[in-house]
Parts: sequence; structure tokens; C-alpha cells
Amino acid sequence: MNLNPIVYAIPVFMLTVVIEAWVARRRGIKVYDIPDALTSLHHGVLSEVTGVLWKLAGLGMYAVVYENFRATDLPADSLAVFLFALLAYDFCYYWQHRLGHEMNILWAAHVVHHSSEYYNLATALRQSSTGRFFGWIFYLPLALAGVSPSVFFAVAVIDLLYQYWVHTELIGRLGWLDRVLVTPSNHRVHHGQNDYCIDKNYGGILILWDRLFGTFADEREGEKIVYGIRTPLNSFNPVWGNLHYYAQLWEESVRTRGWRAKLGIWIAPPGGWTDQPLAHFDTATFSYYDRQTPTAIRWYAWIQYSLIIPCLAQLLAIGAMLPIAMTLTYALGIIVTTVTIGFLLEGRHIAGILEVMRVSLFGGAFAASSTWFGFESPSLLRFAIGVFALASVIWLVPHARSAKLVPSAS
Ligand SMILES: [Zn+2]
Ligand SMILES: [Zn+2]
Repeated sequence: MNLNPIVYAIPVFMLTVVIEAWVARRRGIKVYDIPDALTSLHHGVLSEVTGVLWKLAGLGMYAVVYENFRATDLPADSLAVFLFALLAYDFCYYWQHRLGHEMNILWAAHVVHHSSEYYNLATALRQSSTGRFFGWIFYLPLALAGVSPSVFFAVAVIDLLYQYWVHTELIGRLGWLDRVLVTPSNHRVHHGQNDYCIDKNYGGILILWDRLFGTFADEREGEKIVYGIRTPLNSFNPVWGNLHYYAQLWEESVRTRGWRAKLGIWIAPPGGWTDQPLAHFDTATFSYYDRQTPTAIRWYAWIQYSLIIPCLAQLLAIGAMLPIAMTLTYALGIIVTTVTIGFLLEGRHIAGILEVMRVSLFGGAFAASSTWFGFESPSLLRFAIGVFALASVIWLVPHARSAKLVPSAS
């Protein structure tokens, strides 16, 4: 079985997030907000789920171009080819990332990664579900040069996984490394809303590209970075997190008169339709998105999230082998879970009812059936999940009432 390497990385991600949160707590620094971190993780889940659907739809354009238009055959087992491919990928990544910040339709996908107001390892996992639409275009030079899909896939995963560790406030300056590689210091700048941070430090592995093309900014001592986006997401719903900027572009283009102008909005720089220069950002007056989620609901959300992970791993492992209707049902179930948990964290009045329905449906289905999407579930596990679902409902109902997560009677 050709298992997605992300499946192996999931336990490492979870463990390192917990360690980072623990170290930050010991040092007395607030780098995590639980609802925000869970939302980041939900975005990561959604991105992987949509990746399975993307593959099912046969939209691997890189392979199509490689098969039909490659200029030469570069051997897949050569170290030199591998290193060349990694360097070339990182170069293409710089431009994909840069255009992702400079063109509205690409920013609509990439904005997801910037929507957290906190900077931590969970933020690294806040990945877009729609970036695959146009992302492949930037890597076509590699396909044309004859880099095989297997080598391309390997260097893409390396480039992505490399970027995980730099999403932390716990690692300070690293001397000359900060000027050669992408590091926590220079990537913090990339996620900042401060004036000096905007549109800087796009690199994936090498920050040299930014120094070469004039987009490098060094982290400033004595100026606290405020993370996030200038028009805040203000939501814990990962589906909305993926769609909100497309919705804004759509509204703007409907409002605008003339087809040229309407289409122009999609390729203009972010906010370009206002014709206003970017306003000065005052770090002192920034207020974080905080729905005052009760501690009990935060714990509940974490526990439910921990059950999404084995489901996601299963979907990534066997999604391509299941009948399509089954894969779609499983994917939808996971997506719905992230949304209802998001509603709980936001304190929506509909959240309690939706969550009781979700837990009853999924828990009941797991307990009642001898197989779970191709997995022969042992009766003890079925019993345990059934009891867990029942306990979740019994626990949730009074807590949802006291947290006003049900429609009020008045
Ligand atoms: Zn970015
Ligand atoms: Zn980042």
C-alpha cells in the first residue's frame, strides 16, 4: 500500500504540539489559545480530506504534463537529480507563495494559513483546502524538465515538512542561519501584521530567495509581532475559513460594474479594489478573537478531535480503495465534525443540537455495524464507542444548556 507519509507524521505533529504548549506554559508565555489551536488542526484535517477527494477526481496535473510534455528523462534514483529537484522545487515554491500573497484568487486559498492570530506548531498545520486548484501550475517547469512524479512528490513533502518546525515562538534568533534558511525568526515576520512584516519572507526552505528578490525582512528586536490577517477571520469554522475570502471577492465582483473590472478584482492584489494604500497597523490596539469558550466545552472539543485523527488516518490510508460513495460519505462525516465542533467553540445556539445529532449518528453507526468503512471493528471497540457516544450526549446536554449552546426558549 502506498501510504500517504502524512499518516506517519500525524503522531509526531500531535506530540510536538503538546510539548510546545507545555514548554510555553512553563515559561509563562501565551502562545496557544485552545479554540484557535483546535481550529488550526481542523483546517489541517480538512486539507488532507480534500486532498483525498482531489486525487479521486484524477486531478494530478503534474503527472499528466510529465507524461506528455517532458523534455527529457531525469533518473529517479540519482542523488544529484533529487537535490536539483529539491532546489528547483524550493525556487518554484517561493514564487507560488509570493503570488499567493500578491494575487487575490491565490490569496483566497493561501489566506487560510495566515488566519490564526497565534503562532505555534498547530498554526503550521492550518493548511488550505483549495490551494491545489492552481498550486500545480508553479511546478510545471519541473515536469517539463523531466522530474518524475515520484521525485516531485518526495521533494514536495520534504519542503512542506521542513516548514513545520519554524512555526514557533519558542526558538529565538539562530545567527547566520536566519539569513540562509527559513527559520522561526524570519517566518514569524512572514506571519506578522505589523507594517514591516507585510509581504515579506516567502521562502520554503531557503530564505536566500527573499534576499535575492528583495522581499527579505529581519525580525525586529523590541517590536512585538502581532500575527494574523488585517481583516480577521473571526470564526472557528474551518469550512468558512477556507471560503471567506472567495466570498468577499465574489461580493466585490458582483458589486463592481463592467466585466473587465469584475474579472480584474480576481487578479488584483489583496484589497486592491479599494485603491487605498495599506493602512498603518497599530499593534497596541489589536484585540484577539475570543468567544470566551467555557473550559468544559474546550475539553469536550479536544476529546472529540482525538477521535477524528484515527478516522482521518483511515481515510488517507484506504480512501482511494473504497467505493466512491463511501469515501465521500466518510469525508463529509469528518468535515461535518470539524464544523459542529467549531460551532461549539464559537458558542452558537445551534451547536448543542447539531453536536448531539452528530455524536448519536456516528457513535450509533459505529456501534451498530460490524464494519466501519472497510475496517472490521472488534465488538469490544464497538461497545466502547457506543458507550462513549452515549456518555458524550449525557454530558453535553446540561453543559450545552448552561453555556447557552441551545436556542433560548424566549
Ligand atoms: Zn504566506
Ligand atoms: Zn507559515
